[in-house]
Amino acid sequence: MQYSLGIDLGGSHIAAAIVDEEGRLLYKKTCQTDVSGGVKGVAKDIGHLGQSILKELEHKKGGRVQHLGVGVPGPVHPQTHYVISAPNLGWEDVDLFSELLPYFPDQEILIVNDASCATWAEYKFGALQDYPNSMMLTLGTGLGGGFIYRGETFDGGNNYGFEPGHTILVADGELCPCGRHGCLEAYVSIKALRREADKALKRYPDSMLLKDKSLDPTMPYTIRELFAAAFAGDSAAKYSVDLYVHNLAIGIASFIVILQPEIIALGGGISHQDESFYNRLREAVADHLLAGARQPVPRIIPAKLGNDAGIVGAAISR
Ligand SMILES: [Zn+2]
Repeated sequence: MQYSLGIDLGGSHIAAAIVDEEGRLLYKKTCQTDVSGGVKGVAKDIGHLGQSILKELEHKKGGRVQHLGVGVPGPVHPQTHYVISAPNLGWEDVDLFSELLPYFPDQEILIVNDASCATWAEYKFGALQDYPNSMMLTLGTGLGGGFIYRGETFDGGNNYGFEPGHTILVADGELCPCGRHGCLEAYVSIKALRREADKALKRYPDSMLLKDKSLDPTMPYTIRELFAAAFAGDSAAKYSVDLYVHNLAIGIASFIVILQPEIIALGGGISHQDESFYNRLREAVADHLLAGARQPVPRIIPAKLGNDAGIVGAAISR
């Protein structure tokens, strides 16, 4: 059995595990991301986490690893391996690769974009398997994603990769974390969903979302409760979820018009919904396609690998 080490570097946590040839995880470990020490501090944390996992593999299975991949939340230059920018970590043009070398002298190291990793993992072992022209969108604190074209990860021509969240949905619209206005991410992130729900709750103060809550005015309901209330017919919740589905559908329809993926997998916190959400989304997407009912709607389904997709993809990227 061949093993690789996959590391998913996020804004709040670092997760790492051994990944075998069939995409299974062993010895997963996590730690908090401490950005205060800069790239050296993060590299040290990755180094210690990775080394302890490699020791465990050797101790328990006598296995060794020749390759490790690190998924990072930003575009990566394919020649220099520099992280071009990672706003969640406060990084610009950072040489994580060189900082990791002392910790992993016996392994080849690859730095890759995290959304591309997750998409590649879904293509190899998850929801996108057998679809060489496919897309993944991650609906979470932001809108990330990846695109597989003819069986390979599409990185674009200028190393900035695939950034579906920063296509413009509304000219001069809401402020996006990237500093520009009107990006799709500013309408379909968790923060955007809460923004619209909070506005709706002011118009519908008798909403079930506000009942039986004492409490923390900054966190009065969960996203799960919001969707459940919407499907139960609560006016405020229904308004904000309808708007969310509408905005997401327009974004997805635009990607379909240009890229025509055969299938789109949705990952991230907001993607954990039942079929009624997916059916509504599919119908809304169909309403916004170029050729209307004559253009086939690609399959839109939940991703399969969950939070581990980033680790698996980092481990198996070459
Ligand atoms: Zn943006």
